[in-house]
Amino acid sequence: MSSPVEQCAFAAIIVAGGTGSRMGAGPAKQYRDVAGKPVLRHSIDAFAAHSHCDIIILVVADSDRDRADAICAGLTKKVVIIVGGHTRRASVRAGLNHLTAMDMPPPFVLIHDAARPGVDEGVIDRLIDALHTNAGALPALPVTDSVARVRDGAIDEPVDREALVRVQTPQAFHLDAIVEAHRAWPEEKEATDDAAVLRAAGGTVVVVPGTEKLMKLTYPVDFSVFATMTGAERMRIGQGYDVHALVEGKQLWLCGIRIDHSHGLSGHSDADVAIHALCDALFGAIGNGDIGVHFPPSDEKWRGVSSALFLEYAMNLVRQTGLAVANCDLTIICEAPKIGPHREAMRTRLADIMAIDPSRISIKGTTSEGLGFTGRHEGIAAQAVVLLQNENG
Ligand code: MG
Repeated sequence: MSSPVEQCAFAAIIVAGGTGSRMGAGPAKQYRDVAGKPVLRHSIDAFAAHSHCDIIILVVADSDRDRADAICAGLTKKVVIIVGGHTRRASVRAGLNHLTAMDMPPPFVLIHDAARPGVDEGVIDRLIDALHTNAGALPALPVTDSVARVRDGAIDEPVDREALVRVQTPQAFHLDAIVEAHRAWPEEKEATDDAAVLRAAGGTVVVVPGTEKLMKLTYPVDFSVFATMTGAERMRIGQGYDVHALVEGKQLWLCGIRIDHSHGLSGHSDADVAIHALCDALFGAIGNGDIGVHFPPSDEKWRGVSSALFLEYAMNLVRQTGLAVANCDLTIICEAPKIGPHREAMRTRLADIMAIDPSRISIKGTTSEGLGFTGRHEGIAAQAVVLLQNENG
């Protein structure tokens, strides 16, 4: 780029105030993980990595302030978090007001929706280049499907798709021009986007090539599509193995249910050997130690507790990585009791503890044909394999 750096320095305003009701319950989509980090952090990192970006202003809902602080932890680039208004336009104006109150605001501003994590240096460079000769610029893609108007549920007339584009963000502007345009826009009217605001004030907004990766994450499936597009890791596998001794005078717990039997398993907790193997498979899949690290047998507080507690804990750690259980397969090795009659109750109970569908859980029983410690009824062994995949996959 031939211009001096200060002439093409820009501020980024990331609008992250939305609640994303189409994603269902839980935190707003911009705070959920995709491809290894929160949606919002992808955009922040892309802007922060650009040498011409002077400041990033993150506009959030009041209730998300702490979440935003946590997401921005460790960033060296100047990031300012401010609370936005009740509408997108009010949030953009809050961001612009922050900039105009600065002593030396950068000449350009890129206004971006947090729900589009796929910003990259190429798009930013194309936008900044376009601002050298235009007051506004936005990334857009051609429309590849046929487009038509619909009247009363039937196709009315086709629309020339050559004249249409799919508009994305960030949208880039001369700071002075977009501030003036927002001031001139009617207070009570909502705007489609900031390009519409500049156009209404007589400014020209040119189109630069966008990218498919700049897609807006709206529905749960969009998270998987984006993760695939970025080549982010999508699967992790883990396996676990455990043994406990059979003794008289103890209750027998397997897969979170109590089974009537002449003997029970001996151990520090309730000695649910199947759940222990499953926990180790989960810890293994996320590369986070083993059950002995998280629940040391030397710790008195775990004495006699239900192993359901360990499994809930392991599942919480899994969810924190943005992964979900695709399926798990358990094998319980013993001569007695027979596993078959308890299989469905075990599946239902594990599904309940893990908060997943029972169809993702398989439980198998086998013997060791009278051989070894399991064959001599001295103990029960269990093996587990789990496959994790991106959440919403
Ligand atoms: Mg154990």
